Amino acid sequence: MGISSDLLPGTRVNPTLAPAASRAFSCRSRSGSYVPPWRLHDVASSYEHLWLYNPCTSTQTFIVTLVLVCCIVSIHLWISSQGFRFLNHENWPLTVGMEGKRAFTSAARALRTSRSCRRNVGQSRRWQSTSTGNATTHTPKAFWTTGRVALLTAFTGSLTYLYGISDTSSHVRGASGSLASSKPVYATKAELEKAVAELRDLFGEDAISTDDEDLHRHGYSEWSSINIDTLPVAVAYPRSTEEVSQIAKACHKYKIPIIPYSGGSSLEANFSAPFGGVSVDFTFMDKVLALRPDDMDLTCQPAVGWMTLNEQIKDSGLFFPVDPGPSAMIGGMVGTSCSGTNAVRYGTMKEWVVNLTVVLADGTIIKTKRRPRKSAAGYNLTGLFVGSEGTLGLVTEITLKLAVIPQETSVAVCSFPSLRAAAATAMSVVRSGIPIAAMEIMDDVQMNVVNRAGATKKKWKETPTLFFKFSGTPGAVKEHTQQVKALSRHQGGDEFEFASNAEEQKALWSARKEALWSMLALRREGDDVWSTDAAVPLSRLADIIEISKKELDDLGLFASALGHIGDGNFHTSIMYNKNDPEERKKVEDCVHRMVDLALEMEGTCTGEHGIGLGKKDSLVQELGLDTIGVMKKIKASLDPLAIMNPGKVFDLP
Ligand SMILES: Cc1cc2nc3c(=O)[nH]c(=O)nc-3n(C[C@H](O)[C@H](O)[C@H](O)COP(=O)(O)OP(=O)(O)OC[C@H]3O[C@@H](n4cnc5c(N)ncnc54)[C@H](O)[C@@H]3O)c2cc1C
Repeated sequence: MGISSDLLPGTRVNPTLAPAASRAFSCRSRSGSYVPPWRLHDVASSYEHLWLYNPCTSTQTFIVTLVLVCCIVSIHLWISSQGFRFLNHENWPLTVGMEGKRAFTSAARALRTSRSCRRNVGQSRRWQSTSTGNATTHTPKAFWTTGRVALLTAFTGSLTYLYGISDTSSHVRGASGSLASSKPVYATKAELEKAVAELRDLFGEDAISTDDEDLHRHGYSEWSSINIDTLPVAVAYPRSTEEVSQIAKACHKYKIPIIPYSGGSSLEANFSAPFGGVSVDFTFMDKVLALRPDDMDLTCQPAVGWMTLNEQIKDSGLFFPVDPGPSAMIGGMVGTSCSGTNAVRYGTMKEWVVNLTVVLADGTIIKTKRRPRKSAAGYNLTGLFVGSEGTLGLVTEITLKLAVIPQETSVAVCSFPSLRAAAATAMSVVRSGIPIAAMEIMDDVQMNVVNRAGATKKKWKETPTLFFKFSGTPGAVKEHTQQVKALSRHQGGDEFEFASNAEEQKALWSARKEALWSMLALRREGDDVWSTDAAVPLSRLADIIEISKKELDDLGLFASALGHIGDGNFHTSIMYNKNDPEERKKVEDCVHRMVDLALEMEGTCTGEHGIGLGKKDSLVQELGLDTIGVMKKIKASLDPLAIMNPGKVFDLP
C-alpha cells in the first residue's frame, strides 16, 4: 500500500491559518479530530519551522521586503520601458501620486490595447507619444522589455526563496538566543515512499503499516487533552534493537520524523504527529529478557505493560511499584517519567530505572550504564532519557529495580467534610513520617463516579474522600492504620471503612486508577475531556486544591478533582462541549489559572503527565528561556536533524 497523503511533512503552511492549515497539512485527514481554537497557538507553534509565513522572524521580514521592492521596481521598469516618466520626475516625492495615477490609467489603457500594441510596436509608440506628451521624445530605445523584467523578477524571487530555506540566522537561536542549529526540513513524499519501500525490503511488507485505522490509532487519543489534525504517515513494528536502529537510519537518511509509541496512554498528545513521520510501535518487543531475583532487578523490552510484568514476576516475591495508567508500558513510562499511586512510598519512574539501551536518531545504539544499583561513572545519561518523551532517542531495553512484595496490604477509605480537611490530613500523615503505601484524594464528583460506575459492591459517601493503602508486616500495618485514623479524626474525618478482602481492595484501587475512563463512560454524548495535572510543595496543596475545586464547581460542568495527594500532585478532569466556544473558553481559563497558580506556588505545570504538545508554553513560564535553551542544546547535539518526536516539550529548533 502506498502513502496516500495529499500533503506531506515539509509542506509549508501558514500557522496562523490553523485549523484550516493543519487540516491541509494533514497527512491523513480525520473527520472528528479536533484542535480547540484556544490551543491553536500550541499547535501553530509546532509549525514554527514553516518559516515562510511566520511574520515574526527577521528572515521573513527581509524576504517579504525584498520581494515587494523587486515587484515595485519591476513594475516601474516595465512602465518606464513602455515610455512613461515616473522616477525621473524632478519633484517625484510630491508628484508621484499624480504621476502614478496617470501611469496607472495609461497602463490600463495600454493593457486594453496590448494586443494591437504587440502587433504593431510603431503604432503603440504613436499612442504613447500622444498620451505622454514629450516623454516619448526623451525615452531611448527601452532595454527593459516586459520579458526581461519578468525574467529578473523570477530570478530575484528564486534567489530570495533559496536564501530563505538555507538561512539559519534568524530562527536557529533557541529561547536563550544561543542555540545554533538549522530549522528542520523533512522528507518529501517521494523520499517517504522510498524509505518505506527500503524498510519493507528489509523487514517484510507487514513490518510497516500505512493502514488508515493504524495511523489514526497512533496519532489520536480519546483521553488526550489535545488532539491535532495530523497523523503519522506510517507505523513501523520492529522486533529487535537492531531493527529499530535500521528504522532510525532510514529515517535519518531521508529526514523523517520518528515518534516512539508504547502503550498510547499518555495524556498531553505526547505521541501525536504534528509533522507526520513514522510512528515506531514496540508491540512486538514485549519480552522480559532477564529476571534476576537475587539482584532484585530485571531487563525487559519497551512494550511490557507494568501490570503484565507484575503478574509475570509475582512468584519471585518481587514487584515493580510504578503504577500509571493501566495500559501503560515500560517504554512509554520511561518516556514520561511517570508515577502513580505508589509514588508516595516508592518514588517515580526515574528512581527505578537502572540502565537503558537507546537507539539514537542516527541509528547508533548506546547503553547508558551497567547494572549496579549505584554508579558514579560519568554523566547520568539514564536520567537524561527518562522523561525526554521520545525526543532524544528510542528506548529498546530497560533494566529496572524491583521491590519486595509486602507481607500484608490493607486499603481504607475515609470521608471528610471538606477538601481542605482531607488535604490537611494527608499533609499531617506525611509530616508524621508514617510510611504510608499510597494516599489518594477524590472529590465528591469522583466518588459519585465510583458509585455510578459500580466499580465496587459498596456505595460510598459522596463527599471529599481519602483512600489509604497500608503495607508491610501485619504489625506495622495495624500500627500505621491506628496512627492515620487518629490524624483523620482530628480533621473531622469519618470512621475508616476497610475493603473487606483482597478482591475488594483491588476493585477499590482500580476504581481510582480508572477514574478517567469511568468519567469518560458517563459523559454527555460528544463531550471531550480535558485532564490535567499540576504539583506544588506539600504545604500549598490544601490551598491549590480548594481554589481549583471552587473554580471547577463554578464551571457548572461535569468536572472533578483528584490526585496523588501524598506527593503534592493533583489532577482535574473536565468534560466539555468542544463545539461551544463559550464553554471552551471557560474551561481553558480554568485550566490555565490552575497551572498559573501552581507556578506561583513554586510548583510545576505537570507532576507526571509530561509536556507533550499541550504544555510547552507553561514549561517556558516554569523554567525560563535559559533553561529551555540548555534543553535545546542537548536535543540539538543528540538529534541535529530534529527528527525525534519533533514539536514536543519545546518548539523547534
Ligand atoms: C486512566 C489513566 C490513568 C493514568 N494515570 C496515571 C498516573 O497515575 N500517573 C502517571 O504518571 N500517568 C498516568 N497516566 C498517563 C500515562 O499512563 C503515562 O503517561 C504513561 O507513562 C504512558 O505510558 P505509555 O506506554 O502509554 O506511553 P505512550 O503514550 O505510548 O508514550 C508516552 C511518551 O513516551 C514516548 N515513548 C514511548 N515509547 C518509547 C520508547 N520506547 N522510547 C522512547 N520514548 C518512548 C512517546 O513518544 C511519548 O512521548 C494515566 C493515563 C490514563 C489513560
